[in-house]
Amino acid sequence: MNKDKKDIRALTKEQLRDFFVSEGDKAFRGNQVYEWLWQKSAHSFEAMTNISKETREMLEDNFVINHIRVDTMQRSNDGTIKNAVQLHDGLIVESVLIPTATRTTACVSSQVGCSLDCRFCATARLKRMRNLNPDEIYDQVVAIDNESRLYHNKPLSNIVFMGMGEPLMNYNNVLKAIDKITSDEGLGMSPKRIVVSTSGVPKMIKKMADDDVKFKLAVSLHSAIDEVRTSIMPFNATFPLADLREALEYWYAKTKNRITYEYVVWKGINDKRKDVDALVQFCKFAPSKVNLIEYNPIDDGEFQQANSDAITMYQKVLEANRITVTIRRSRGKDIDAACGQLANKS
Ligand code: SAH
Repeated sequence: MNKDKKDIRALTKEQLRDFFVSEGDKAFRGNQVYEWLWQKSAHSFEAMTNISKETREMLEDNFVINHIRVDTMQRSNDGTIKNAVQLHDGLIVESVLIPTATRTTACVSSQVGCSLDCRFCATARLKRMRNLNPDEIYDQVVAIDNESRLYHNKPLSNIVFMGMGEPLMNYNNVLKAIDKITSDEGLGMSPKRIVVSTSGVPKMIKKMADDDVKFKLAVSLHSAIDEVRTSIMPFNATFPLADLREALEYWYAKTKNRITYEYVVWKGINDKRKDVDALVQFCKFAPSKVNLIEYNPIDDGEFQQANSDAITMYQKVLEANRITVTIRRSRGKDIDAACGQLANKS
């Protein structure tokens, strides 16, 4: 690859129009190429059939399209699909398609590896290698959408940023990708069908509120007691619960959007009544929903899913406090596609 060539999808539409004008062509050519790059998701300049051969060759001389490539695709018995996608520099991230009766959801990655250190998550063990570019995030969604149409006869309906990485540690690129996904010049999806999940980076949650984003927010809480949370999510020592809560209050005041908390109940860690009481207290300031997620084992048993009595206790106490609870069954476990299992094993 010629090192001087630029990634064409790093250009805005305006920049692309300016480029064509500087080449003595019409600005409109920029619109045409932009449409190929995003709406039509072209993998090569050659595919741009309404652009003259000469122009395509000129583009080839100046730019590259760093399209992702689905390296392997695995299908679970439950219909879940996991893609290992190769990036232009050879690194791999994973994305997942989760079909249910009412929706098909893409779970996409925002970083290669992760800089956070949640002790129960397989991705954390990879460390962070780099952030994904907006186009690499967008491409994952397009690939999943194509697979959804092919294998489930329907387009993608929802997107969750719950794959590898911490989306709020790659905020600008995630936002740019969402802009493309929701724009009519991209996939035209509603931002209300997109959830960004964070381990809880207070400063960035406030920034999201200030930026008036339209997508939904989920927070991986797992404990509302600092000591416990720090023991399983060590970065909580830097971003303690009081700061997280303050940021969420700010988010709610600005957006009036309900907050979803993801929460795994583990044996001997957060399965006592005091843990639920702390959760209730933490959630009280805004309409909240708690997703109790099944634990997907990633190691030799350091963490174990709590027994069903503990889950039932959580459910009852939360409901008694008018907090919505859902119990989320794992999908795609047989292909290591479930929450926390994405670690490029394939
Ligand atoms: N970094 C972001 C995005 C990842 S989302 C975040 O933390 O929210 C992945 C979700 O799966 C998070 O809620 C995470 O806490 C949860 N998770 C991680 N490891 C898990 C495991 N082994 N079993 C079940 N859920 C897990």
